Amino acid sequence: MGSDLSNENNKLYQEFFTSIGSEEVSPKRLLITARVRLVIVFPLIFLFLFIAMGTFKGQGYQTQVERVVLIIWVLLAVTYIMANILINMVKSQNALIQQLTCTSILIELGTNQLILYMAGSLTSYATMFIIVAVALYRVFLDYRYALYTAIMGGVLFTLVAIMEVSGAIPLSPGLTSPTTSSIYLQPGAALSAITAVLMGIFITFVSINYGMNQVEKLHRELVEHSIVDALTGIANRRYFEKHLNAEWRRGRRNNTPLSLIMIDVDNFKLYNDNYGHLNGDKCLHLLAQALQSGVKRPTDLVARYGGEEFAILLPETELEGATLLAETLRQQIINLALPHAFSTVNNTVTISLGVATVIPRNTPANILVDRADKALYRAKRNGRNRIALDYAHSNNAMQ
Ligand code: GH3
Ligand code: MG
Ligand code: MG
Repeated sequence: MGSDLSNENNKLYQEFFTSIGSEEVSPKRLLITARVRLVIVFPLIFLFLFIAMGTFKGQGYQTQVERVVLIIWVLLAVTYIMANILINMVKSQNALIQQLTCTSILIELGTNQLILYMAGSLTSYATMFIIVAVALYRVFLDYRYALYTAIMGGVLFTLVAIMEVSGAIPLSPGLTSPTTSSIYLQPGAALSAITAVLMGIFITFVSINYGMNQVEKLHRELVEHSIVDALTGIANRRYFEKHLNAEWRRGRRNNTPLSLIMIDVDNFKLYNDNYGHLNGDKCLHLLAQALQSGVKRPTDLVARYGGEEFAILLPETELEGATLLAETLRQQIINLALPHAFSTVNNTVTISLGVATVIPRNTPANILVDRADKALYRAKRNGRNRIALDYAHSNNAMQ
């Protein structure tokens, strides 16, 4: 599991720095978008605040133009936020990501408002580069657009600031604060502007690191909280275990039987070896869907237990019912008629099933898995493509 996770993280880093040409927007990508926003824009708050602090003297007045501009900005901001919330609701069910994305949008817009108000229109345009960069990413799903545009904005702003400070070009007009330009008239202004830029770069690096750590952490949570097996689309092992424990406690309280069918595909290694791993994956998907549709009660759970193993948990079900279902499923898989010319038992894909039923007591839920597993082993040993019942109930394997 540990190495799986670090592989996942490596992939994450790769995706962060290279192009993503996929049409699907995964939660992971939305998460990174949110982080890119925070990581790029957040340090700029400090940068511009630093500059603005030296210029804003609290004597600003608001003209009609300023008011109109501010109102338009607020309207745009609200529209933008609403649009993003809608986009996220459609593309991601994950509340955490939605929250992150919205937070970062709010911070961006807040930053831009602040910059417009305190440091003037020129610096505000520079930040717009960043916002445009992230918007471009959203459209094209390619980080390079975001990074290039952001870098372009940063370079442009720095050049203009240096030229203004050195007197090469006239000072840029502050749209909302008439006092904006005063910093450039003070002694040592050039030094503080350059210090601010350096600080901004430093903070950018620190927060990129911080942001990536956060992405890793959140991504790990996403993986761990996921309940669906990616390959087959049915419940995963983690969810199965949670469900098993809950049903175990319920059975113990109500004194009702709990049944489990463990399933293993016959000669699946031969299938992979001869038809290829990709076809093996497709086969597993079809089998999972068939098993899922063969189970009728809403409380029954079909899960992928391991590589080519499935588990079906049947609450409030006696051994007779579970056995009947197991036999029906075995037949259904034969009826699927997936060719397997290399099988030692049939010319199509078959499964072996182990069935166990217990009334839960004060023991760990694992004993049910153990028993079903042992039964499955006997089904295999007795020739595959058959079901076997837990020894506690029966000594007979049946075809
Ligand atoms: P048996 O009838 O005794 O179960 O034989 P088997 O070949 O099915 O059993 P074994 O445990 O030797 O091999 C299981 C194989 O299942 C190994 C591997 O090739 C395949 N497998 C496991 N997980 C996956 C997967 O996610 N995708 C694919 N394509 N194959 C998988
Ligand atoms: Mg196996
Ligand atoms: Mg097998």
